[in-house]
Amino acid sequence: GMPAPPPPVLAPRRKSRKIKVGTVDVGGDAPVSVQSMTTTPTTDINATLQQIAELTATGCDIVRVACPSQDDADALPAIAQKSQIPVIADIHFQPKYVYAAIDAGCAAVRVNPGNIRKFDDQVGSIAKAAKDAGVSIRIGVNAGSLDRRIMEKHGKATPEALVESAVWEASLFEEHDFHDFKISVKHNDPVVMVRAYQLLAERGDWPLHLGVTEAGPAFQGTIKSATAFGALLSQGIGDTIRVSLSAPPAEEVKVGNQILESLNLRPRKLEIVSCPSCGRAQVDVYTLADQVTAGLEGMTVPLRVAVMGCVVNGPGEAREADLGVASGNGKGQIFVKGEVIKTVPEDQIVETLIAEAERLAEQMGEP
Ligand code: SF4
Repeated sequence: GMPAPPPPVLAPRRKSRKIKVGTVDVGGDAPVSVQSMTTTPTTDINATLQQIAELTATGCDIVRVACPSQDDADALPAIAQKSQIPVIADIHFQPKYVYAAIDAGCAAVRVNPGNIRKFDDQVGSIAKAAKDAGVSIRIGVNAGSLDRRIMEKHGKATPEALVESAVWEASLFEEHDFHDFKISVKHNDPVVMVRAYQLLAERGDWPLHLGVTEAGPAFQGTIKSATAFGALLSQGIGDTIRVSLSAPPAEEVKVGNQILESLNLRPRKLEIVSCPSCGRAQVDVYTLADQVTAGLEGMTVPLRVAVMGCVVNGPGEAREADLGVASGNGKGQIFVKGEVIKTVPEDQIVETLIAEAERLAEQMGEP
């Protein structure tokens, strides 16, 4: 039969040019990718590779590693070679590590112009080395490390200041006929950040890497990132994203994936449709939803599982989902594809849902 039409998105993608970050395309019609950054010392090659493997398994597309010293630079070849996903070296202050990262086989290098003194003199040779090696660059402008000249002109890290810095650095690379770069203009305030990316998006066709920097601990950082990325992605702006959390990087990846899935920018996987419960609830919905979510963690097929507290919206939502329960009177009606297949006592709801979900997932090709 006909393939199902792609799920609707909120806006057409902004037209950006496509660059390569190793095996991952960024920009153009490439899917919006998810990035994170390792927290292990880069010099600890095994720990770093282990964390990269965990990030890869969580659905991370591209990983960045910090390179603050020569010892870190020396670890890059082994990391770049053994990582399952493209590695970006994150370089501040020292242009010499840019060359080291390129030689090490990194897929890309992130440079922060504000933090590389005399950077402007080096752009030509960096562009040449990168082009010869097929390595792309991210121009990573950050509110916390804006060029002094631009800070003096604007007084603080306004959207206009971030964009002026980014466009200036982009022009330096373009003067050397180097175009394989993406840009970020990060700020910790989602309003400033969104405005900066909107302004930047109008100035050129560079692929854009979205980030709210120093977004905070998991709860605040998740909401700041989701709000800011949602505002931009819903206007078609953004080609790759990195959620910054003061939390383990796998959590960043989960949040990033969930943001993209919510906007239909990445195929949805497991989705729990659970009600908030209310005074009508006849079952402890929070516990039920948590237990079902925990029991199905890691499932990769697009299964919608409805967990509903009572019969008001319960049967309706449970019917719309692949699988669901509507609770009442100490029992749970279990729905599969819209049909009640059985009614079980409350204490068997979780195990029944998990068993049915696994059976459905197997039919859908879950390994
Ligand atoms: Fe309340 Fe029932 Fe709706 Fe849940 S499904 S929020 S318990 S009315």
